[in-house]
Amino acid sequence: MTKFDGGVSRRDLIKGTMAAGGLALLGSPTLASAANTGSAAAEAVPFADLARQLRGGVIAPGHAHYDASRKVFNDMIDRRPLAIAQCSGAADVMHVVRYAREHDLPISVRGGGHNVAGKAVRDGALLIDLGAMRGVRVDPVRRRSRAMAGARLRDLDHESLAVGVVTPSGTVSDTGIAGLTLGGGFGWLQRKHGLTIDNLVSADVVMANGEFLVASEDDNADLFWALRGGGGNFGVVTSFEYKAYDVEPAIAGMAIHTGDRLQDLLQFYRDFTATAPDSVMTMAGALPGIPDTPSAGGIAAWIAVCYTGDAAEGEKLLRPVRDFGTPFINSIGPMPFSAVQQMFDAGSPPGMRHYWRSSLVAELSDDLIDLVVAKAAELPPPGSMLLIEHMGGAIGRVGPTDTAFSGRNAQYNVSMLSAWLDASADDANIAWTRNTGNALKEYGTGGAYVNYMADEGEAAVRAAYEVNLERLIEVKRKYDPDNVFSANHNIAP
Ligand SMILES: Cc1cc2nc3c(=O)[nH]c(=O)nc-3n(C[C@H](O)[C@H](O)[C@H](O)COP(=O)(O)OP(=O)(O)OC[C@H]3O[C@@H](n4cnc5c(N)ncnc54)[C@H](O)[C@@H]3O)c2cc1C
Repeated sequence: MTKFDGGVSRRDLIKGTMAAGGLALLGSPTLASAANTGSAAAEAVPFADLARQLRGGVIAPGHAHYDASRKVFNDMIDRRPLAIAQCSGAADVMHVVRYAREHDLPISVRGGGHNVAGKAVRDGALLIDLGAMRGVRVDPVRRRSRAMAGARLRDLDHESLAVGVVTPSGTVSDTGIAGLTLGGGFGWLQRKHGLTIDNLVSADVVMANGEFLVASEDDNADLFWALRGGGGNFGVVTSFEYKAYDVEPAIAGMAIHTGDRLQDLLQFYRDFTATAPDSVMTMAGALPGIPDTPSAGGIAAWIAVCYTGDAAEGEKLLRPVRDFGTPFINSIGPMPFSAVQQMFDAGSPPGMRHYWRSSLVAELSDDLIDLVVAKAAELPPPGSMLLIEHMGGAIGRVGPTDTAFSGRNAQYNVSMLSAWLDASADDANIAWTRNTGNALKEYGTGGAYVNYMADEGEAAVRAAYEVNLERLIEVKRKYDPDNVFSANHNIAP
């Protein structure tokens, strides 16, 4: 069995971690300097040898920040990593991967920690935490942005919007750019400019052997293909280079109606999206009833829009949405793009338990709408949501096998996003999500958006990748034959 500097075996380390035994923070000024002197005390601490190699630090069980540092967005996930390596850049990541390989330690990788399956953290594994790597650089002349892999969407927007450009990303600004990009990247600009992966120019990647590679159309093109939708299966991406676009005037917002209008609203949505140009992105769905509104005690039906371009043209295009029914909340109007990018933030607070599923569909048939309406009536309160996102446009102008994300021919993504507060409601929420997801299968293309998937097992992951599964397995065999990167929606080699 592998021995560490301090004479501690791998089994001892894992046992110690699971018991939360009194290990210490390494990489703190005090301990790091003790480690540098090679004092006996520092040598006796597990991971002192790793900490010495890093610019960042290592947090082990027993440290005051250990519990906070192992948390992810989904409160259902309560896992105890062996230690948390807080990386400051690609070099740190290389050191941690090599160290883990040398000592035969399992690893996991965390970007923003928003993945609802909680794959970023694993019991008894060394956690490669990229959370401190939030730097962003934007070149508004070349229209390029570069984000370090721990950046949140709001970090990328903050730097981009300040100089008048934007990179297509997601709709909740606290989400990590890394996981979002590696799975696809759905957001307000997807119909106009494509998914986030469609705007990826290159990625810096630390591979399973600890080596550093750049992946782009010109360099390691097979890896670049796989990174665009294949998740964290192939290496640790340490930074992403994207295309950026001039920011245009936006008209956006949400209209919320009483639940009895859901059927009409979804039929209207289907007709509206059938002819909407790429400058218009819409979502629709259902929410639990909102206290102190006419929807209280039932459910609410909602539609959200984002148009970018000439303002007068936008007013004309969005007129049918504005004229539909009599919403009891309506925020649709001109908006700075920074507000568009954060308009769902308040609806996604931290500290909730989550279970999600998604299904890509080719059309919103009457039967599918009936099913959504029936399932919405059983929507568990308080935080769950039925979400239908319009796809098509620029997404469909990329072929299903051009990137690892295969769902190019789908017109909509239908998702069940359950969120609740108390563990006693776990069963009810998970059951509603699963039942609804199973019932929807009949209408789906077979594919799913991996970034909205809870932990549903190997078969669901294989199905989600559809036509690209075999090629993904080939690329996995080439770059990670030992499945070092398995803490994800895993594509086994
Ligand atoms: C509130 C909320 C809103 C969301 N809104 C959107 C949205 O609008 N559009 C959308 O497309 N998605 C959205 N998502 C889904 C989101 O894309 C995924 O949850 C995604 O995994 C988040 O990325 P992360 O870096 O925060 O995740 P993490 O949990 O840190 O990581 C997710 C997975 O990717 C791996 N990983 C992370 N970083 C790296 C890396 N640098 N290199 C290799 N592997 C890595 C992890 O090991 C893990 O398996 C939302 C999620 C939440 C919770």
